[in-house]
Amino acid sequence: MTIIEIIEKKKHNKELTREEIEFFISGYLDGTIKDYQASALLMAIWFNGMIDNETFDLTEIMLNSGSKIDLSKIKGIKVDKHSTGGVGDKTTLILAPLVASTGVNMAKMSGRGLGHTGGTIDKLEAIEGFNTSLTEEEFISNVNKIGVALTGQTGNIAPADKKLYALRDVTGTVDCLPLIASSIMSKKLASGADKIVIDLKLGNGALVNTIEDAERLGNLMVKIGAKFSKEVVCFVTNMNEPLGRNIGNGLEVMEAIDVLKNEGPDDLKELIIKLGTELIMMGKGLSKKDAEKEIKDNLQNGKAYNKFEEFVKIQGGNIDKIALAPKIFSVKSSREGFITGINTLKLGELARQIGAGRYSKEDIIDYGVGFVLNKKVGDFVLENEELVKVYLNEKDIAIGDILSCFEIGLDFKEKEPLIYKIIKWCKLLSKNINLVEYKYLVLYY
Ligand code: URA
Repeated sequence: MTIIEIIEKKKHNKELTREEIEFFISGYLDGTIKDYQASALLMAIWFNGMIDNETFDLTEIMLNSGSKIDLSKIKGIKVDKHSTGGVGDKTTLILAPLVASTGVNMAKMSGRGLGHTGGTIDKLEAIEGFNTSLTEEEFISNVNKIGVALTGQTGNIAPADKKLYALRDVTGTVDCLPLIASSIMSKKLASGADKIVIDLKLGNGALVNTIEDAERLGNLMVKIGAKFSKEVVCFVTNMNEPLGRNIGNGLEVMEAIDVLKNEGPDDLKELIIKLGTELIMMGKGLSKKDAEKEIKDNLQNGKAYNKFEEFVKIQGGNIDKIALAPKIFSVKSSREGFITGINTLKLGELARQIGAGRYSKEDIIDYGVGFVLNKKVGDFVLENEELVKVYLNEKDIAIGDILSCFEIGLDFKEKEPLIYKIIKWCKLLSKNINLVEYKYLVLYY
């Protein structure tokens, strides 16, 4: 077998065998298969796709390329949550302590920002002293003590995905559904949780831009979960505007605290309630009604915020010291009208430009910079009224660039739904893991 034969095969839209995928992954990891050959194969996959069996094999081979986290020393069911990435997405900061406050364990490995999207680990580091590099012992001991721990990904989780993802990033092959599904699921399966909720972002600030692709990707990840005996529920949610109002690491921590105190913007709070409900339905086997009640109660009665304080303290953070940039100014609208659209990708890129994200691994993040949106889609803005408050430190930004992210029109624009779909599998026909017999239940909101 040679890599050239494998590339030729995929180029002609033929199904790859498990042995061929294994040959590719092990050769790419040990350097015998070169970047240019791997790029050619990835592009052939981008054009011709993969059938489900190829995607399952790729996921399993990447999962087995590194170590797996053993969470068996943590008592009870461990749930995890993953977002495919967006702008202003601070849900993990809120959900982890909220879910733990109901007695469900959240032992979570998170990533750093990728491109224009932020990462949970960077956000947590906006809290002075917060340790995002726990040892495995600390990670497990914290979950056993307080029900929650969040740490950065260790170098050895799915190293094949790490190397391939870096290549996909620079060869235009990120936006390929079987490659995305196997990349995300190989890491999630290696992270050891029993049950997983995926927040699949859809819209102009996300990796996926059409509902058809979101549904295909969601189905694929849920099926991969079923294949590996993990319950996976996938929410397809709106990223046609930033989530909440704050964008930027420290600012997002502050908004997360608002929600944990039962305040904060409606869209973020609603999504938290929906995702939190699902997580504790899975973790405690509660009915939807009881789970939702407990989530709402814990936001109201202070238990969620108290758990957040406990969580920050045990990981060494000082909750009174959250980074905030010193220069603040308002960007005002040059005309009046309804906000009919927000270019979320561009706003995320501008946040990266002022220092909230990185262009290369070596870049140092400015945790205090960012934007606070005073207006979102569907709102009315007057001429000269504030659209965005900007927090700057060392880098500057052109006001025109921010203004160009907002579409303003005379006709009212209805907001898109916050949640488009929920995809979950249920054992309608058989208790055995047999994909042919599984039915996929798609709930429409
Ligand atoms: N996130 C991942 O981890 N992998 C992808 O391929 C895309 C988003």
